[in-house]
Amino acid sequence: MKLRDLPKVALDVVYPRHCLFCASILAREENRSLCEACWDRLPFIKSPFCPRCGVPFKSEYALQWSPDHLCRDCRQLKQRFDTARSVGRYESPLRELILAFKLRGRLTAGGDCSFLMEQHAGRLMERRRLDLVLNVPLHRWRLLRREFDQSALLARAAADALGIPVATHLLTRVVNTQSQTDVKDRRKNVRKAFSAENTEELKGKSVLLVDDVLTSSATVDECARTLKKGGAAEVHVLTLARAVW
Ligand SMILES: [Zn+2]
Ligand SMILES: [Zn+2]
Repeated sequence: MKLRDLPKVALDVVYPRHCLFCASILAREENRSLCEACWDRLPFIKSPFCPRCGVPFKSEYALQWSPDHLCRDCRQLKQRFDTARSVGRYESPLRELILAFKLRGRLTAGGDCSFLMEQHAGRLMERRRLDLVLNVPLHRWRLLRREFDQSALLARAAADALGIPVATHLLTRVVNTQSQTDVKDRRKNVRKAFSAENTEELKGKSVLLVDDVLTSSATVDECARTLKKGGAAEVHVLTLARAVW
């Protein structure tokens, strides 16, 4: 052990760090907020899923005979984003990891979220041509209260992994929407909530739109509508988690 490690060791003895999901004591060298067992239980989304919106299919044979088969929403709704993918389901222990960062500002959890995004962005975006990374923006009042913007940090992680620039200034939230549980209300609620800025920079670009959790697709769809109106050619969505009903 080196001398400079001493204070941290002393701190760990007095205040051992705990896994934020199962509360077991974390090994001293572990720089994560989940223990190894919980990390191994992260609910990653695996094939088969809808080729367009990425929602997992119940049957593992869903795409066996028709690889282009779309889910019901994608067949019935007019959605403006081109494709959507998520790293995992919004379930334990991924949900706890996201909430620890988002609501309690736990930085180790934030580091874990960024790490997961960095690790999976390349695989999930396959061979899409992407020019810019944006995030679903918070309204500036909410940003002031929260001090940091979780989705902007995830956008930075995805951009690093994919080697493309971040351009968060191109989309702003002009209406401070309330969270709604009803899907219909949600679509109405986010209508015209965003504005595309510096549209010259958006013209003809394929945009990757990043957020922490995809609950209904209403918000990302409205962002996609706004970006396309502003000149973007394609909008692909990537989130860390998605709610699966
Ligand atoms: Zn654990
Ligand atoms: Zn779909």
